[in-house]
Formats: sequence, C-alpha cells, structure tokens
Amino acid sequence: MINDKYLIEKCDNDISAIHNALMLKQLSGTSSIDDEYEKKLAEFFKSSYAVAVSSGTTALHCALVAANVSEGDEVIIPPTAPIMTAMPILLMKAHIIFGDTNKDNFGFNLDDVLTKITSRTKAIITVPMWGYPIDTKALNKLCKEKGIVHIEDAAQAHGAMVDMDFTGTISDMGCFSTHDRKILPTGEGGFILTNNIEYYEKIKEFKQFGNMTGDSFGLNYKLSALQSAIGISRINQIEFQIELRTKNATKIKESILTNLLKEIYVPPNSRPNYYSLILRYECGYEFVEKATDEMYKNGIPSDIVRYSYRPMYEYPLFKKYSCRCDNADHLIKSIFTVCVHPGLSQSEVEEIIKAFKYYDFSR
Ligand SMILES: *Cc1c(COP(=O)(O)O)cnc(C)c1O
Repeated sequence: MINDKYLIEKCDNDISAIHNALMLKQLSGTSSIDDEYEKKLAEFFKSSYAVAVSSGTTALHCALVAANVSEGDEVIIPPTAPIMTAMPILLMKAHIIFGDTNKDNFGFNLDDVLTKITSRTKAIITVPMWGYPIDTKALNKLCKEKGIVHIEDAAQAHGAMVDMDFTGTISDMGCFSTHDRKILPTGEGGFILTNNIEYYEKIKEFKQFGNMTGDSFGLNYKLSALQSAIGISRINQIEFQIELRTKNATKIKESILTNLLKEIYVPPNSRPNYYSLILRYECGYEFVEKATDEMYKNGIPSDIVRYSYRPMYEYPLFKKYSCRCDNADHLIKSIFTVCVHPGLSQSEVEEIIKAFKYYDFSR
C-alpha cells in the first residue's frame, strides 16, 4: 500500500520556530510573528499584500466579503471544484452558477461562461485543481469589462506558475489553504494574496472583528502565531517540494504515456506544482473507472476514489444548481490522479509505473 499523505520530514526549523514563538509569549493572531509570516508570503509570491487566516475556507469567505458578494448575487464556479470552494458562497446566501470547463483542463470555457453572466454576477472563481495552472488572461479581460471580481481558489496550487507569475496572483484575489495535506502545510490555515489595497484593508479588518470598532461586521479568522511560525519555517520548502514532485512525475510520464494516455493540458510557459500528476485517457469512461478501482484495491492511491470525485452538482447540497456542463463531465470521467509526492521511494514509483503498464492504454 503506497502512502498518499506526504508529511514534511525535515522539521528541524519547525522546532526552533515554535520555540521562538513560545519564548515571545504572544501566541494569538495579532503577534509580530503573523506580520512576519504575511510579509514572507507576499515576498515569496511577489504579491503586494498577503493576509494570513485560519483556513482555506475562511480565505474564500474573506475574498467574497471583499468582493461585496451579497444575498441573491451570483458566483460562477467550475463543477470540477471540490465542495469546499462552494461552502462560503452558500454562507453568503449567494447563488452558485456552474460554468463549464474546457474538455482537457480545469480552466473555464469562456463561451459557456459568457452565457452564464447576468447583472447579478458578482464574482467568478477559478480553481486550478491538483496544482495545474490555468491561463486566465482572457477571463481577466472579460471580468474587467463586466465589472466582475475574479478570485482564484489556489488551495492546491502553491508555486504553480503561468508566464512567470504565481497562480493566486493572476486575479483580483488568490485564496490558499495551508491544511496539513497541502504543499505549504501549517496544520490548519490559509491566506489571501492581492495587489488591491482596498481588498487588503477590507480583509484585514474582517478577519479581526471589523477592527473591533463596532463600525463594521467582522469575525475572528486570525491564524495563531504558532501556525504562522510553522509557515515561516516551511515556506522555503515549496520549491524543494515542486522539484522532487516534478522529478517523480517526469519519470512516470516517460514510462507510461501513449498516444491516448496523456498528461492533462499544461499551458505554454507554465509550471504545475504536481500536487498530483493528472493523466487523461480519451477512449472509454468504463476503462478509466475499472483501471482506477483495480489499482486502488491494489494499493495505488487515487484522489478520484478517495474523495469520490464527481461534478459538484451531483452532491445533494448542490443539486438545485445543476446545469449541463458536458466538458466538465467528460473531463472528470477521463482522468487519473497519480501521487508523486517526495515521500515516495523509487521502488514505489516503479510500483505505480508497473500498475499502469498492466493496462494497455495504446488502444
Ligand atoms: C483544501 C481546499 C479548500 C479548503 O481549505 P481548508 O484549509 O481545508 O479550509 C478549498 N478549496 C480547495 C480547492 C481545496 O483544495
């Protein structure tokens, strides 16, 4: 059984970072360590501002608040996103509108999105699944023209790049999770990146009770200093992670790709972070499902099985927002998720290759 949860092994810095935080005797989310963490995040991602918050979910909530999403407004999301992307929209009492993806990647199909935009559309959320970057230039232009706020849910996409820009910095606001399974793990946590000072100030205010003045509504979404300390200690591991993940992904690709089993589309001049390697096979949904299930039973991890991945409108909570998204349906039924984390031994990489080679993906 191959382990699909990689825990960062080099924790030496973590211990001293936590020790320092304890010695400072300021463990809340208003400590100087949080300021330092936010500064480090902004520097690393080359963003004007970063705000640390308590989770990826609360990061999304803050972004929707900054975008001024209100009851009855519409927010467009792809049905390929996980349900976590959508929960904060329900919290705002806004309507979820599903925009179709492309057939071969998680980016929006702009023709479909155009038919979904109404006078109530407040925000569009792009979700680069498993760290595969999405080229959003055309979407950004469209959003600008229509006065719609573009948000990236980059919870899985730390360090993924398009044209030398980090995913999460190519929209109005980028939301990240630092949950224990993500590429920058602090246990629980999240952050928002933005170049817009008004969004930045709104989020800063909202995450601490509206600055406690009683003038505006806010909640407590602060990240504790202990988690910020771990974030500071681990931020430089992002590049190291991506390097080793890319190496494993390359080895697997070189061994098993065929004319029909391909890597999912990667835009030119872009870089996935290989949160997972995503392959697609175009010649039969049943074959993909059967191979995935059999491999899973034999100890080869699959996020498709693990999370019973499906279009979001198939979950009871989101059925009422159902609409036809043929490309997304096709995409979800055609893909394999392959784990490539740095905790894999070379013999485990070989095991994954062997499992795929057992099937004939050339027909
Ligand atoms: C993990 C994740 C979230 C939620 O982040 P939490 O920190 O667990 O709240 C949201 N969206 C996506 C795409 C995610 O992968």
